[in-house]
Amino acid sequence: MCIFCKIINKEIPNYTVYEDEYCLAFLDIHPCAKGHTVVIPKTHAEMLYEMSEMDYVRLADGLRHAMNRVREALQPDGMNVGINIGHVAGQAVGHVHWHIIPRWEGDDGGSMHSIVRNPGDESAEEVAKKFTIIL
Ligand code: AMP
Ligand code: ZN
Repeated sequence: MCIFCKIINKEIPNYTVYEDEYCLAFLDIHPCAKGHTVVIPKTHAEMLYEMSEMDYVRLADGLRHAMNRVREALQPDGMNVGINIGHVAGQAVGHVHWHIIPRWEGDDGGSMHSIVRNPGDESAEEVAKKFTIIL
């Protein structure tokens, strides 16, 4: 059983930020910022894009509630909300999880754009050809 399933099963304790029938949000044990929160589905799935539509919608709703709990409790000036997908992107736990990282003016943090700077050498037109749009 994965570490997040153990948290759901209460085998590992957590500081809960928000909980409903389908998801759990709790404080990250190694916070990047005060109130750094992890939001997970109660049903194990490794990757977000492998989830059923309903499970995804329920998690998205839990994320929204958890963001509001963080806002109410800590009044941050902003937040970064995202997912590390795959080892190369920094995913360490193989159970879908959103990160909510509260931000404050002057905290010296960056934006999503500071994660990587690797635009490649193909034009946007060339990259666009790799996408088939089905209407
Ligand atoms: P990721 O690197 O995207 O897989 O993020 C996993 C996150 O889970 C990390 O930020 C860890 O600090 C956090 N984490 C791991 N174990 C626990 C735990 N027992 N309680 C709270 N957060 C945890
Ligand atoms: Zn799990």
